[in-house]
Parts: sequence; C-alpha cells; structure tokens
Amino acid sequence: MSKRRSKKKKNRGMLFLILILLVLVVMAAFFLMRKSAENSRIREEARAAEEEALQIEQEAEEEANEQARLDKIDEEKNQWYLILVNNQNAMPDDFDIETVEVEDGYYIDARVNDALQEMLADCREAGYSPRLISTFRTRETQQYLYDHTANKADTAVPGHSEHECGLAADIIDADSLGWGDPLIDEQEDMPAQKWLMEHCQDYGFILRYPKDKEDITEIIYEPWHYRYVGKEHAAIIMQNGICLEEYLENMEDYYEAQ
Ligand SMILES: [Zn+2]
Repeated sequence: MSKRRSKKKKNRGMLFLILILLVLVVMAAFFLMRKSAENSRIREEARAAEEEALQIEQEAEEEANEQARLDKIDEEKNQWYLILVNNQNAMPDDFDIETVEVEDGYYIDARVNDALQEMLADCREAGYSPRLISTFRTRETQQYLYDHTANKADTAVPGHSEHECGLAADIIDADSLGWGDPLIDEQEDMPAQKWLMEHCQDYGFILRYPKDKEDITEIIYEPWHYRYVGKEHAAIIMQNGICLEEYLENMEDYYEAQ
C-alpha cells in the first residue's frame, strides 16, 4: 500500500515537473515571439523613417530644381534676344545695339550676324535664293516708312518696330522680286521661304508674325519676317506653333531648364 502511494507521489512529481517545463517553454516561446515582433517593428519604423527622409530630400531637390528653372526663366526674359517690341512695348531707349553689314548694304545686330549669315548660306547651299529686303532700320527710316505708308495699320509706329532693334530680317525668295509687292501671303509658297520657315529655328530665328496670331501680335501674317531669339527659344516657339507674346506670357509652361 505504501509502495503504491509513493509511486503515485512520484508520478505526480513528474507531472508537475513536465507542467513547469511546459510553462517555461511556452513562456520562452512567447518571449521570443514578442522580441522578434518588437525587432521587426523597430526595423519597419526605421525603414519608414528612412523612406520619409528620402522623400523629403527628393521633394526639396524637386523644389530647388523648380526654383532654379523659374529663376532661369526670369533671367532669360531679361536677355536682349528675348526683348518684346510690339504696339504695347516700345524699344527701350537704352537698348544697346551695334550693327554690322550682313550683305548688300543690309545691317543687323552684330550678335545675330553669324546666325543670319549661316542661315542664308545653308539656304543657298540647299539650292534656293533667299534675298534680304529689310533688316536694321534706324528710327529715322522707320519714321519715314510710317509717314509714307498708305496703310498705317500695317506699319509699326516708330520705336515699336523690331527692325529698329536690329534683331529682325525680312527675307523673300528672289524669284518674287518681280511681283511688284513681294510682301504678300503668297510668299509662303516660294521655295526659299518654305525652306526658311522649316529651318529658321535651327539658327535661332522664328517666323515672328504667324498666321492666325494677328489678334495677339496685332501685325498681319508675314511669311518673310524672321526674328532672332536664340536657338533654344526658337525651337520651343516654332515647335509649339505660338508667337513670341504667347511664349513670354506663359514661359513657365514651355521652358524646361537645360
Ligand atoms: Zn519685317
């Protein structure tokens, strides 16, 4: 009887020990799981913080780039080659200008001469006959033209013509010289003119008074008047089919920093 009781006691002790071990194992597992969950939470938080820092850095960089682009636009707008001269904007009195002869007694701003020479030479090389008929005009010449024109609406008021800035050239196809007045819409169909309209942007020129922009430029369509604005701006203006007024007004929408 006492032997059986002591066996029972032994079994109970064993059971108790197993129970304790089981509790210990469960506690250890629980502790390890919590630790691992804690670790992955810390890792996750660190990763999120890193991502956030990176995003803040990226946003700051984008903001800086955008500010640099806007600063560049302001800077470009003040460059001589983007000067806006039209009915509302007179040529500034202090506009610095030094002219040189392009050919045949026609003068242009010295800074534009190379580009114009190159454009004419390449047009001729391609087999066409471009001919200058008006480039730089003095205030006196513009005044004379204005005083003697039959149609004052089509002639810029003195001080308001791009020709006075030395940045514009009227170019026609030599084959239209015999037309009497070659400055008509049909000029756009002439071979030299077609070449010029297609390639002018490559030399920094734009067709300044496009078709369907008369309401904005207040100048009739002139498929002969080329204006220097520099290659970068010429490409944007010509490719977007806009006039200089539209470009300068909305330059933020068009100009990408280089
Ligand atoms: Zn002109």
